[in-house]
Amino acid sequence: AISIRNLQKHYGRYHALRGIDLDIAKGEVVCVIGPSGSGKSTLIRCINRLEDFSAESSITVDGTPVRPGASLARVRAEVGMVFQNFNLFPHLTARENIMLAPRRVRGTAKATAAAEADRLLNRVGLGAHAEKYPDALSGGQQQRVAIARALAMEPQVLLFDEPTSALDPEMVGEVLDVMRDLARSGVTMVVVTHEMGFARQVADRVIFMDGGEVIETGTPEQIFSTPREERTRNFLHAVL
Ligand code: ATP
Ligand code: MG
Repeated sequence: AISIRNLQKHYGRYHALRGIDLDIAKGEVVCVIGPSGSGKSTLIRCINRLEDFSAESSITVDGTPVRPGASLARVRAEVGMVFQNFNLFPHLTARENIMLAPRRVRGTAKATAAAEADRLLNRVGLGAHAEKYPDALSGGQQQRVAIARALAMEPQVLLFDEPTSALDPEMVGEVLDVMRDLARSGVTMVVVTHEMGFARQVADRVIFMDGGEVIETGTPEQIFSTPREERTRNFLHAVL
């Protein structure tokens, strides 16, 4: 479970997150929506400590504080991240990309890490592509490798930052299908997305952010059918 209290983030003088309070239960799928610049990426980057945040804020992942001074390696092992642009290592095959963190961070034996990588590649539908380098894979395939790579550390939670927005439209579905399977299998997920259909169908809870604040949170049904806040209504009107 993730617990976020009074999360404040400044970029220089710019106040990007203005006191976010959020609890995410084990197995929960939370979709974060909101306009460009509202702080969605900043929020999940703070959970992974890709960004530092103000001292009065607190984030814990399964009780472990995510804090300057706390072990970054430990946070990164428990919090997996999938980026918009895949971020695979170009000089490593799909299998090697997935093996890297277990080998380096955990010291997993090579054969064990390779077998686990192949199991994960099967899980994302890429069993036949283990030996390909990223540039020989489509965008959708690369993103599925990136998801498998994030799963390899068996994180407590997986964070996604617009995982389909760099993809050609015909590849969006295959990535969302993999994410839907993960959600069903009980993986805790925080997904920043513009895919309202996915949020509506898969999320347990939807969070609408604007101006560095959580404006409204509710079930997909509540947010999409009966939003309480005018800013939520305006946003949904513009994107749906
Ligand atoms: P988008 O939908 O466009 O990805 P977002 O909701 O993810 O937007 P963030 O990237 O979290 O928004 O940015 C929130 C605000 O913080 C924006 O106004 C942005 O310009 C600012 N910001 C983000 N990163 C930095 C940075 N490294 N330095 C300065 N300002 C930043
Ligand atoms: Mg963003």
